[in-house]
Amino acid sequence: MASVLIALGGNVGDVRATFGKAIAHICGMAQAALTARSSDYATPPWGDEEQDPFINACIEIETGLDPHALLFVLQKVEQKFGRTRTKERPWGPRTLDLDMIAYDDVRLQKPDLTLPHPRLFERAFVLVPLAEIAPDRVISGIRVRDGLSSISTQGIERLPDTG
Ligand code: ATP
Ligand code: CA
Ligand code: CA
Repeated sequence: MASVLIALGGNVGDVRATFGKAIAHICGMAQAALTARSSDYATPPWGDEEQDPFINACIEIETGLDPHALLFVLQKVEQKFGRTRTKERPWGPRTLDLDMIAYDDVRLQKPDLTLPHPRLFERAFVLVPLAEIAPDRVISGIRVRDGLSSISTQGIERLPDTG
């Protein structure tokens, strides 16, 4: 079994409800166990500031699927919740974005899959929830908590649990 960290994001629709359902679908389709889930965070948009704030979270799962099979599952789940990549602008509004942040210690550079995620350490909206569930995980030679301490977390707000 592999330990996989996945970042969730979205800013269209009832994103927190989408996260809950999407996580259940990921676990079902990937025959995965959910081993950790961060809080949800409201975060300023990144890359394209002319859009609504995002909600972001991170999960950790244990799965027997290989990285490409898991990527396929993540893309199926994105589509199920209304993601239509062809109609989007880069880093623009979306219902659900599922990025594989790390898959065990696998390093991969394929046209459709880079592991670990190459922009992880530029993004407080990933590192804040990630540090909640995996502060001591070392990714690309950097400990998550150290990566977080070297960037600004301005504008990021932890949302209260929905219960
Ligand atoms: P970013 O990758 O900068 O967060 P994005 O999430 O908006 O951008 P998408 O349009 O969701 O980008 O995905 C573009 C492509 O990225 C996908 O088709 C997928 O094949 C590829 N990709 C490469 N590495 C990964 C990864 N680690 N996790 C998810 N998708 C990846
Ligand atoms: Ca992304
Ligand atoms: Ca993505």
